Amino acid sequence: MLRRFFAYYRPYKGLFILDFTCAIFAALLELAFPVAVNRVVDDLLPSGKWDWILYGCLALLGIYIISAGLHFVVTYWGHMLGINIETDMRKKLFDRVQKLSFRFFDNNKTGHLVSRMTNDLMDIGEIAHHGPEDLFIAFMTLAGAFGIMLGINWQLAVMTFIIVPLMIYLSLYFSRKMSRAFNRMFADIADYNARVENNVSGIRVVQAFANEKHEMELFKINNGRFRVTKLIAYRIMAWNSSISFVLMKLVSLFVLVCGTWFVIEDQMTYGEFIAFVMLSNVFLGPIKQINAVIETYPKGIAGFKRYLELLETAPDIDDAPDAQAVESLRGDICFAGVGFSYENKEQVLRNVNLSIRAGETVALVGPSGGGKTTLCSLLPRFYDADAGTITIDGIDTTRMTLESLRSHIGIVQQDIFLFDGTIRDNIAYGKLGASEEEIWEAARRAQLEELILSQPEGLNTMIGERGVKLSGGQKQRMSIARMFLKNPPILILDEATSALDTETEAAIQQSLNELSQGRTTLVIAHRLATIKNADRIVVVADQSIAEQGDHNGLLQAGGVYSRLHSAQFGA
Ligand code: ADP
Ligand code: MG
Repeated sequence: MLRRFFAYYRPYKGLFILDFTCAIFAALLELAFPVAVNRVVDDLLPSGKWDWILYGCLALLGIYIISAGLHFVVTYWGHMLGINIETDMRKKLFDRVQKLSFRFFDNNKTGHLVSRMTNDLMDIGEIAHHGPEDLFIAFMTLAGAFGIMLGINWQLAVMTFIIVPLMIYLSLYFSRKMSRAFNRMFADIADYNARVENNVSGIRVVQAFANEKHEMELFKINNGRFRVTKLIAYRIMAWNSSISFVLMKLVSLFVLVCGTWFVIEDQMTYGEFIAFVMLSNVFLGPIKQINAVIETYPKGIAGFKRYLELLETAPDIDDAPDAQAVESLRGDICFAGVGFSYENKEQVLRNVNLSIRAGETVALVGPSGGGKTTLCSLLPRFYDADAGTITIDGIDTTRMTLESLRSHIGIVQQDIFLFDGTIRDNIAYGKLGASEEEIWEAARRAQLEELILSQPEGLNTMIGERGVKLSGGQKQRMSIARMFLKNPPILILDEATSALDTETEAAIQQSLNELSQGRTTLVIAHRLATIKNADRIVVVADQSIAEQGDHNGLLQAGGVYSRLHSAQFGA
């Protein structure tokens, strides 16, 4: 997994080298400072030459200033490295999510996904920057400090350094515990986000049912759970830092006491003693740093694991290796022996055979839950059939690129999803980069012109999240306008007018009729009155096509259709 992590450094080799080099020099200067102080105290002080002492101090000032510059580079460019890596990861993840199939989104919560694309990645950037650099520098400084301390007084150096393995062991011990805690925390944040997302997007239902209290209770559970896991993680962290703190201070005291003894016994000069005390602080720094890395590492890695998991989710519907982009289609559709089930549950469709000529309008009717929507969603390959083949113009849909296949199919549904934005943006979604005239033309054909002209902002009117500022009919017209712009040869109208009142329905039916002109059209209609214009009626029931024909023929046959008909219109 580390190898996969380091692969993200590849585009930023230059930045990494710059950062690393500066960090190494900064560390070396940190070591040089105590040595310089040692020289000032032991050599320059006794000489009593003020000008020399002044030069010595100026040299120390120089070391400080250069260090400051190096620290700036390390902090800024080092973080730039981390931020760039984080940005790359975000992009990769978003790109992947765009390609995941309907099945994936059926089974994953929006809030969870949002959480993964935000929170989970936060700490990876930090780790990307601090991890390798801090560890290397820390070990280098440790080794350097140890070397110099050995040179000054090896007995004291060895005694002081006994503490190092103990500290590292402790850190590793806590790191494992924290790793588990942070994993749980990320899962909790995701649940928490999912809860908030679900609540806010359904707030109108919540208030309509006056179920705010119930929602608050549900939220309290998630919020409480999140609190507890977070507390646990930070308690472990607190133990870790307290114990480390005490150990480090013990080392300082130890050096102070033993160093004094060595000085009194004349085995150490004052300068060496001061340098030793300073060095023991220098070496405590890296241990703190190693500790910090060990603390953030589990968080970053927990996030990275979750990131990889999502990134490696293969879209179960994707272009075949030899898929071809189809330029244009006439719209001859053929379902042959098609079978399908969601998630290995019961069969939804079984051995469906259906041919539709280009330009034909076919109405799909049948009992609710009979599989009409499912059948239609197989055509643009939102789901892949388990059995049989679906061809358009004789070409198997699985042999076309998804992009080209879907560019030839337009779907108008009952619940329209409009994006938060302007009327213009939403209409132009059917053809990105459509010209002003094209947008107006589409709006006119969808009978939206009046609405747009009545708004002071015209096409730039904001329609609110999911188009809340529009009526049901207006939303439907928006989706029809979008479809005029897209201009696909194949059109699916899935209960497009079912949610509307009869008057609006009749008005919109006009636009829909115009839209379906010259296209192969599949109309799913709940109200049988709306399918009068269909060339053929196909009844989907009992997992298959129960019967088909024209209105009169089907009535006479006395099957499912005639039962549906008498249920709606009386005998
Ligand atoms: P219709 O459009 O004819 O009313 P559908 O095609 O929507 O029927 O549904 C057919 C069956 O498939 C139903 O039993 C429904 O519960 C099930 N179903 C629909 N969509 C999904 C889905 N995304 N995941 C699992 N089952 C589904
Ligand atoms: Mg349906």
